[in-house]
Parts: sequence; structure tokens; C-alpha cells
Amino acid sequence: MSDSKDLISDPPSDTETGATAGGSDDIRLPVLPLRDVVVYPHMVIPLFVGREKSIEALDAAMSIDKRILLAAQTSAAVDEPGVEDIHRVGTIATILQLLKLPDGTIKVLVEGQQRARLEDIRTGAEGFFTAGWSVPEQTVEQSGKELSVLVRSVTNMFDQYVKMNKKVPPEILSSMSGVEDADRLADMIAAQMSLRVEEKQTILELFDSGARLEHLLSLMESELDMLQVEKRIRGRVKQQMEKSQREYYLNEQMKAIQKELGEMDDVPNETEELARKIEKAGMSKEAHKKATAEFNKLKSMSPMSAEATVVRNYVDTLVSLPWKKRSKLKKTLADANQVLENDHYGLEKVKERILEYLAVQQRVGHAKGPILCLVGPPGVGKTSLGKSIARATGRKFSRMALGGVRDEAEIRGHRRTYIGSMPGKIVQTLAKVKKRNPLILLDEIDKMSMDFRGDPSSALLEVLDPEQNHTFTDHYLEVEFDLSDIMFVATANTMNIPEPLLDRMEVIRIPGYTEKEKANIAERYLLPRKMKDNGLDTSELTISDDAIMEIIRSYTREAGVRNLEREVSKICRKVVREVLERELAEKTTENDSVAPDSDASSLEEQGVQPGQGAIAITADNLADYLGVQRHRHGRAETENKIGQVTGLAWTSVGGELLTIESAVVQGKGKLSYTGQLGDVMQESIQAAMMVVRSRAAALGIEQSFHEKHDLHVHVPEGATPKDGPSAGVGMCTALVSALTQVPVRANVAMTGEITLRGEVLPIGGLKEKLLAAQRGGIDTVLIPEENAKDLVEISDEILEGLDIRPVKWIDQVLEIALESAPSGEDGDRVEPVGGGDERKGDPSSGVRHH
Ligand code: ADP
Repeated sequence: MSDSKDLISDPPSDTETGATAGGSDDIRLPVLPLRDVVVYPHMVIPLFVGREKSIEALDAAMSIDKRILLAAQTSAAVDEPGVEDIHRVGTIATILQLLKLPDGTIKVLVEGQQRARLEDIRTGAEGFFTAGWSVPEQTVEQSGKELSVLVRSVTNMFDQYVKMNKKVPPEILSSMSGVEDADRLADMIAAQMSLRVEEKQTILELFDSGARLEHLLSLMESELDMLQVEKRIRGRVKQQMEKSQREYYLNEQMKAIQKELGEMDDVPNETEELARKIEKAGMSKEAHKKATAEFNKLKSMSPMSAEATVVRNYVDTLVSLPWKKRSKLKKTLADANQVLENDHYGLEKVKERILEYLAVQQRVGHAKGPILCLVGPPGVGKTSLGKSIARATGRKFSRMALGGVRDEAEIRGHRRTYIGSMPGKIVQTLAKVKKRNPLILLDEIDKMSMDFRGDPSSALLEVLDPEQNHTFTDHYLEVEFDLSDIMFVATANTMNIPEPLLDRMEVIRIPGYTEKEKANIAERYLLPRKMKDNGLDTSELTISDDAIMEIIRSYTREAGVRNLEREVSKICRKVVREVLERELAEKTTENDSVAPDSDASSLEEQGVQPGQGAIAITADNLADYLGVQRHRHGRAETENKIGQVTGLAWTSVGGELLTIESAVVQGKGKLSYTGQLGDVMQESIQAAMMVVRSRAAALGIEQSFHEKHDLHVHVPEGATPKDGPSAGVGMCTALVSALTQVPVRANVAMTGEITLRGEVLPIGGLKEKLLAAQRGGIDTVLIPEENAKDLVEISDEILEGLDIRPVKWIDQVLEIALESAPSGEDGDRVEPVGGGDERKGDPSSGVRHH
């Protein structure tokens, strides 16, 4: 007998099946294997059936009693399932409706009836599966109370589950409210939950309703947990989205309002503009990458936030740097020479060295090599030389003041982690000049100092070092920038420059100008320039040579020409005013034929005839314009005095005359000094004292003078601190003069360090000192013999009018500087004050002659 025969020949009636609750495996049913669905009892569900065997199974079921066994496949992927591919627990279902679709497949509506164990699955002659079945029984009996508690918990939990899970329609709850039966309830809930097929099958296989409810409870619990987390995450995302949307909306609105108010003509799309700039800036690969990354960051930020401002500033800085742009450099040396000549008088040696430097640079093709450092007092034209070099080479000029720079970050920039951080001065300068090959003047490099914030000179070293500066990294910028195209020129007042920096530099000294040079500079450069600045022409103002000399001598006292420039400028200003007043006066005269007396006389007084030619400034009317003379020309004393010597000092503002005074009074051998003398100068006094003591006999000074008298050395202008060894010779001479009562010649100036044996040692700053001597009206200058060789480097103009005497021993100094030779052992003995009351000679010196 075939299976189909079985089926056909022994059709069980509905009542029969219903009655056999225990199941009957003698009645076989066709089996419909389901790929991805598990059907529970009481569940109505449409199924789409396409497989041939399954369609035949349906047909067979329809022809008998519309009952069919639904069982899930163990794997949905299997197309032609075998017996072993079918789960052994399934559901007996009734076919409610069957619809053949045009494509040959069948839509069938089934309703689950009861759980069934499949037994003895076989393939019949028709090819579909049939199986015998039995109804499984509940194994554990649960007490009614326990079960109803379980039912309640599950219902509550499912209530929550439906609320949280949007996939379950809430109507389910109402359809479920009437269900009391735990078994049915469990199946209904299981049918609604979104579970994997295996999970559903597991539930189907739980025959015991209590166990099934418990299982569902735990499933729902973990599902609820997941849903809650999901909800939280979704909430956060939504909040963020809302916030940025809100900000965006408000910003757009603000822009619109601003536009409406006319504050912004046409609101440019900032981000687009910035993106364009990044592409156009010609950055290095590294910088481009960085800029793009930061730019992307910026795009995702709210545009008004503080953080966005920081990022935008950074990108702006990167964009504004001259990555590619450079000035076209001028190459001809002749032109360079012309520029230097046009801008500066004299300074032949300096110009020569600058030209040599430029020539080498041109040859080598880049700015490598030592950095020029112009050293000299203020106002000698260091800055303006720098400007001229820039002009001569076609570079942009920028001055970078280093005076007072203490913080390394000023050179190298602040790291971007600081609030308000900025790039360093170098990068700022580059962003300002917009060219990558400017001339940067490092002004006052000797005034840089160091403190706990690091050493700016070491940072500067990195900037200047040609080995390192092509990969210079500013802390703020974070990417490398090549500085090797920049030409650096440094200036300083003193040589007090950190050693490693000095190592990189070629020093050119500009000591200061002679009176004649100053006069020339004033006439040829300062006056024409200032007249032009003030809108005057030569028909309106002339300044005579003697007037210029008078300004130089009596109104300024400096190594450079800065004050001179100022005074000339002052004259120009006053003359402009006068010219305007004169014009006004003329107009009124024209209008009113009677000129007011007062006006006419005041102009005449000033050497000006109304309506006539230029205003002429001469030495005589100079005071009308510049006020009373400020300095006495020839600062040196004109009278020979006891105990007073003119020394020569070198300071950062050039050479200066230095008066040294000494006095001897009765006492106990105290040696004191005043005038803010530094350690070295104090030691010089001690050494000078020793020299005097060792020569006491020869100089006719009492041997024990140092025990009976107090000596005092004073260097006037006490407010300025002074130091250095080169006053040694002067101190010694002053002491000898005070002790011997022989006056010192006022027209002699001296400089030199002294040894204990009385030898005169060489000094520095000779040129500046000679300039000061010349300015001060000195005739004779005593210099250490070893410095004599330096004289060849000093122009005749400076030497003019000076009698320069190289000396090796203090005895030579005394011979020249003292009015007369002190009477030594053979002559009249000169002894300092011994306590007697009769006093002769200079009363101020407190010394008497015997
Ligand atoms: P520094 O930088 O040395 O302090 P500056 O360069 O500021 O001095 O010079 C001060 C002024 O003096 C400038 O106007 C400059 O042009 C002028 N000057 C200095 N030296 C000369 C010179 N040799 N020829 C013409 N002008 C000069």
C-alpha cells in the first residue's frame, strides 16, 4: 500500500482527529517543510509555496481533510530537504484558503491547530513527505497559582515590550486581553516576538506551558534591555543632531539678519573661500595635509564656537604664509652699489664689505653663509643700511625688534594647546611680508635676554643656522617651513652677543662719525630728506655750514646722527610754520596796505625780509629755532687742574670723555671711591695705588703716605655705572697729581690698563675713543703702545688735529700728562699734607708744600 492510498483509503474525519487528543500515528498527514518560519497553534498565517513537492503535499491535504503538518527545516538554505533536514516537532494546521498565483506558486492561508511530534517521516510515491504524528504531553504539572503569577508577569512584560518595540502593533495587546489560557497565551506572545527561527523552534519544542512562559520571560527581559540601550543611543544621537541643526539654523538666521542690516554686503561662503585658499597657497605636502585635516575638522564644528575660531586662525595662518611667493631678486652689483651710495654718506669700508657679501651670495646663488651683523652706537645708520641692502637686492624689508625678548616662544611660537597661542615672530613676519625671501633685520640682538621661559638665542640660532633653517618648525605651525631663502641682517650696540650666535655672524663695526662726516651727512642727506618730508624746498630754507657745525657741537653729543636729524627736523618744522605765517602776513598786507608793525619787526628780527627768498639759518640765529645751547663744546677742561685727569671710555653709545678726580686729605690711610664704579674699575684703583707706592721715592712722595692720608677717587656723572680696566692709567695719573700737587694738562686724554709694574696694556674701542677725544677738543691722546698698530685702520679724518702718543710705561704717561716733572729723590721733595695748618697751593686739594 502506498502512502497516498493510506491517506485516501483511510481519511480521518475532523471529529476523529479532534477526539484523539493523545495523537494517532496510524493516520499519516502530508508534511510541508517550512524554510524560515515556525507556526504555533492558533496562529493564522499566509504561506507562499513554490516547491513542487510542497505543492503536491498541499494538493493531497486539500483532497483529504485540509490538514497538513507544518515543520521547520533545520536549515533554510536547503532547497531539496531530506528527512533529516526537518525538525521533529511541528504544528498540525488547517488550510483555510488556497490561491494559485499566476506564476504557478500558491498562497495558502493556514491556521495552526496543535503541536505534534513527527514520527516516521517518509517520501511517498507522489514525492512529498508524509509523517505520522502524536500529540506531546505536558511533563510538569504547575500549580494553578504559580501559573497565574507567571501569566501576569509575562503579560506585564509583554506590555512593556510592545511599548518599546515599534515592530509590534499595539492592537495585539487588546486581542490578547481576553486570553486566559497559559498555553495559548505563551504561543501568541512567541508568535509576536521578533526571534530567530531556531529560537522559535525551541519555544515550539517546549511542551510545558509553564516552562514556555518562563523562557519567554527571560527572552523578553534581555530584549527589553537591548531596546533600552538602543533607545538611549538613539536619544543621544537625536539630541546632538538637534543641537547642531539648531545652531546651524540660528547662524544662518543671524547671517540673514546681518545681511538685511547691511553689515555684510554679500555673505561669502567662508568655508569655500578657505578651501580655495588652501589649494592656492602652494603649501608643502605636509602642510597641505595638515591644513586639509584641520579644515575638515572645522567644517564639522559649529562656526561660532571658540574651538572653531582657534582652528580657523590656525588654517588662516597656514594659508597666509608665503609658501611659494618670492620677490624677484636684483642681480647687478653696480645697482646695489648705487643704492648704498645714494642712501649713505661715507662708511666706505662698510659698503665695501656689504658689496663683497652680496657678490658672494650671488655667486653661490643662495643666502647661505654668515649673517651680517652691524655693530655700532645708535643713530649711525645700521637700520637704514639694512633697508638699503633690501632695496639693493630687491628684497622686501622687515624689522624684527629683539630688544627685551626673553621668551623663547616669541621666536619659535607657542604650542597650540595654549589659549591665545600665536606663531613666533619669524612666522608672523613672513605672513606680513607675503614673500618667502625678505630681508629680516634682527634689531638689537645684544639686548635679548634669557629667563626661565627658555633661551631665545638658542631658538634664534636655529633660525639662522643654514644647516637647520630649511626645516624650521614653529611650535604653533607644527609643520616645517623653509627659512633658507630669507636674508638675515643683525644689528647690535655692543659685542655683548651670545657666543654661539656671534659664531654665525660676520661683524661689521660702525664706530660713529667725526664732526666733518656728520656735517656732510646733515647737508647732503638729512637736510634734503627732512625738507622734503616737511614740504619745504631750497627756495624757502638754507642752513649755513657754520650753523650745522654749531648744531653738531652745541646741540648734540652723540656718536651717530639721530639727534642731529631730530634737530634738523625741528628747524624744518619751525620754518614751515614761519613761511605760512609770512604768507598770511603778505596776504593781509595786500588786502590792507598798512602792514601791522609787530609782524614786520618779528620777521626782520629773524633775518627774514617779508616776501623775500629763503629763510637763512646761521650760527647767529640758530638759538631762535633750537633754544639755548645744550652742550658746551669741548667738554674737556680748559684749565690744568691738580688731581683731575681726562680718561677715554667706551660705552654702548660710542666713545666718551671720562673725568677722573682724586683728592688726598689727612687721615689714616683709607682709600675710598665714588661714582658707581664696577669691580674692575675698583681693582684698577688698587693696582694704580700700588704703582704709585712702588714709585713713591722717584716721584718725590713720602714713602708712608698711604698710612697717614686718606685718598679718594671719584668719577663724576655718578648716576651712570661705569666699569672696565682702561681707566687704570688715568687713575694712576690722578693719584700722582694729587699726591705731588702737580696739575695735569687739560688738553691731554688717556686710556690704558695698568699693571702692578706700571706697564700700559692695550684697550678696545680705540676708534670710538679717538672720536670722543676729537669731539671733546683734546689735542694729545695717550694710547697703549700695542694699540698703535690699530691706527692704520683709522681714517685720517679722525686722526686730524690729534697728537697721538703711544706709551708703554706709566712714567711716559706722567711725563707727558703732568704740567711739570714731579721732583724726585734729588729734587725738592714734595710731601702730602702732614697735619700742619699752613696751606699753600690749591686749597681744594688739601695738600701743602714744604
Ligand atoms: P641705527 O639703526 O644705527 O640706530 P638709523 O639707521 O636709525 O640708526 O639711523 C638714524 C638716521 O641717520 C637715519 O635716518 C639714517 O638715514 C641716518 N644716517 C645714519 N648714517 C648715515 C649716513 N652715513 N648717511 C646718511 N644718513 C645716515
